[in-house]
This record gives sequence, C-alpha cells and structure tokens, in this order.
Amino acid sequence: MAALLLQEQAWPDVEAYLGKDDRIIIPVGSTEQHGRFAPLGNDTYVTMTVAEDASERSGVLVTPPMWFGWSPHHMACPGTITIRAEVLIEVLADAIESLAEHGFRKFVAVNGHRLTNIPWLQIAAERVQRKLGVKVVIFDPIYMCKEIAADMGFASIGHADDCETSHMLYRYPHLMKMENAKDNPFEPQPLYHMDPREPQDTLCYVPMTARGLKQIVDDTGDAIFGNPTAATAEKGKKYHDHLVQRLIEVLDMLKD
Ligand SMILES: [Zn+2]
Repeated sequence: MAALLLQEQAWPDVEAYLGKDDRIIIPVGSTEQHGRFAPLGNDTYVTMTVAEDASERSGVLVTPPMWFGWSPHHMACPGTITIRAEVLIEVLADAIESLAEHGFRKFVAVNGHRLTNIPWLQIAAERVQRKLGVKVVIFDPIYMCKEIAADMGFASIGHADDCETSHMLYRYPHLMKMENAKDNPFEPQPLYHMDPREPQDTLCYVPMTARGLKQIVDDTGDAIFGNPTAATAEKGKKYHDHLVQRLIEVLDMLKD
C-alpha cells in the first residue's frame, strides 16, 4: 500500500477515510542549515520518511509537513528560515483545529527538529487537547530511539551528527555531499550533555545565538556538532526501521 498523503487526496477521499479512522500524522520539521554536506530540509525529510513509511504499513493519513521551525541560531548560515516560536504554536494549533472540525480526533506530531521544537509542540498540543477534547501525542525520534541508542554506536549527538546523517544517507543519499563533511566532535562540557545517552546531570537546552554559531563557522569551517563522517546508511536503516515500527505501535495504541 502506498503512503496516504493528505495533499494527494480529493475531499471525498478524506470524507471516506473519516468514516473508518480518525487518526492523522503531522510531520513537523525545519528548514535550517545542516552543514556543508546535508540539505537545509534535513529535519523535514527525516520526519516525512518516517511518517510515510508508517503510513504505508498502517494506512494512517499524513498531512503535508510543516517545513518551518524555530531556528534562530541557524540564521548564521544562508538559507535557514526561522519562524517565531509563537507562530509555530499557532500554525500547529490551527492545523489541528481545522482537522478536528472535519472529524479527526487523534493526532501524532512527528518531530524532526529535536529539542528545539518540543516545547512549542507541547504548548500547542496541551491547548488543543483542552479546547477541543482531542488527543495529541508528540513522537520525537531522539526519545523514541532510547532502546536501541546504546547499540547503535552513534558518535556524539548534536547537529548534523552521525545519527541524522546516517538517517539521510539511508533515505536520501542523492541529497548528501559527504565529500564536504568534516567532524566537529563535542568537547566535554561541565553540566551540559545534550546526548540522551549521557547519564550525567545536565542543564536544559537553550539555543546559542546566531553570532555564537557564526563564530563556530569561523573556527571550524562549518556549523555542525558531532561526527558526520562516522555516518553510514546501514546505521540509518536500523534507526529508521526502529522509528517506523515504534510509530506504528503508537498509532495502534491510538486506534480506539
Ligand atoms: Zn537536524
């Protein structure tokens, strides 16, 4: 079965779908720099491919992805588009409210922009649940790969790292320019460990300034954190298959 994409349906198709199902997946990504080797759409592509593969196997409808996220720090590099966090909340809430008016009741927001997007997705989700009586879950790949993370052998997780680069190499190899990839491994920092596998106490995430990231570009030649040269399509496949399986389990959980 092909993935069921909202933008490819006519309205009677959606009406028929609503006769038998009230679940829908909303991919939420970003358009932001991912180093000299990966496309600006990285975060949106990874969320689309997980959503589409889960749709193929479950028959659950997928909305068009939200291509813009909150990316003020990545404005250091050309092409990045950032929207204000409050705009992101409003767009997601309005999309859910529109769909709820048609009869959708269960929403799975698949996040491709990691920690940076999560608070705003939570605010939108809480509001629509309270206001509309619908159910919203947030599916974040970093949280949803905990069970395999230790075995994946990923190098440090940051930005345009081994993990997201492996995923892209598996699903969108034609968009990758790995000859331009250069590692920028994390130096250990006191009280700051973004990688969820790290057991140490950590301060919560606050994006750096665009000026700070520009300094990283001046110092290292790129605006990434991690080891993209360690990425392989094989690791990407294992990670992707786990996420798709987990997303299907979440969709099953929401069935009734
Ligand atoms: Zn990313």
